[in-house]
Amino acid sequence: MSRSYLLRHSNLLSYASKPSNLPRSLPQCLHRTQQQQQLQHQRPSKPYSTTPTSIKSQEAALKTLPDISPSSLTTTTTTTPKSILPPSELIFGRTFTDHMLSIEWTASAGWLAPRITPYQNLSLDPATCVFHYAFEAFEGMKAYKNPAGEISLFRPDKNMARLNRSATRIALPAFDGAALIELIKEFVRLDERFIPAEKGYSLYLRPTLIGTQRTLGVGPPGSALLYVIASPVGPYYPTGFKAVSLEATTYAVRAWPGGVGDRKLGANYAPCIVPQLQAAKRGFHQNLWLFGEEEYVTEVGTMNFFACVRDKTTGKVGLYTAPLDGTILEGVVRDSVLDLARERLVPQGWEVREERYTMGWLAEAAEEGRLLECFGTGTAAVVSPVRKIGWRGKMVECGLKQDEEAGETASLMKGWIDGIHYGEEKHKWSVKV
Ligand SMILES: *Cc1c(COP(=O)(O)O)cnc(C)c1O
Repeated sequence: MSRSYLLRHSNLLSYASKPSNLPRSLPQCLHRTQQQQQLQHQRPSKPYSTTPTSIKSQEAALKTLPDISPSSLTTTTTTTPKSILPPSELIFGRTFTDHMLSIEWTASAGWLAPRITPYQNLSLDPATCVFHYAFEAFEGMKAYKNPAGEISLFRPDKNMARLNRSATRIALPAFDGAALIELIKEFVRLDERFIPAEKGYSLYLRPTLIGTQRTLGVGPPGSALLYVIASPVGPYYPTGFKAVSLEATTYAVRAWPGGVGDRKLGANYAPCIVPQLQAAKRGFHQNLWLFGEEEYVTEVGTMNFFACVRDKTTGKVGLYTAPLDGTILEGVVRDSVLDLARERLVPQGWEVREERYTMGWLAEAAEEGRLLECFGTGTAAVVSPVRKIGWRGKMVECGLKQDEEAGETASLMKGWIDGIHYGEEKHKWSVKV
């Protein structure tokens, strides 16, 4: 990259005065009336809450532009409502609800009025920058329905903060997270009938932010589209926990210091598929990402990774997970597991250890019978227990008995977190829709 990050950001300013740089054709579903546009410009501006702290000039430039405004929402409901699938037929991410939420942004006008419309295709010019240079950031979160029919989100502020961090890293605009949460609630309420009431089911929400400028020039997008789609999903393990096997990947890395592995960018995921297929070819469910010559354990597939290890000398049990050193995605479930462990396990003598540990150290603990259990965490499965890890021709057994599908800690965590999801435990993490 010949121009510095800062320089490229300051170019955002020039888009305001150079209309030729703006996309000539906006996505078809996003055309708006002249009147709507004028209304937008009259809206009082709100200060940004989550602009990057390191890029002062951009912050100053964007401060005067409108942020996302829930009160400007317009809703067009579908005339062809979809039929609801029986819950047992739901496949993750295959079917979507009736509607979608879209909010356009331009460098000159800021965030435009949010719209809920029928779920539909986007129409984008083939030269749109998202297709060429991966200007894409996304989130994964869920809406849950409790037995009383009340709907809630789980720590949505975390997803909003993370999407802002992801977006600003690739020169996409920041936004007011609280405002997007309000709009997501509105959207979820509208498509509420798609959320199965049974425990374990939920509505998976996929906020997506893309650069929409029509240009092959490599630079900050002068326009963007933030949209949210929703997919009803069933339990990750319909018949209860199923412990998975992992292959430690030693020939490829997912993330590196100074890279973008700690951001939820689309560009991070496509390169992970081949190592995952390679692992599958050798009979493993997923791959385990290691880093460096030391072979630090980082993440499993698209989940954070935890290990319960008894200390060789003190005999204390520690809950280990890799630290947020830039190579780890800051999982909302990871953070929740750590918080719950500090609150509920530490008083029982546990240690919580956010620190680097190597595959060799884990294998040694396994050999000495000190590796009690391992599990992955993420919004899709909440907790995914691990039976064994293939590593350099060895098989590392992770502490489960032959007939056991989950360890005690994985089960506890899953129970606690699902309890909060489905309103069995009242908790500040649960946000009413
Ligand atoms: C999304 C994701 C996670 C899990 O994050 P949650 O917020 O807990 O769902 C972990 N690792 C990677 C690489 C991810 O993309």
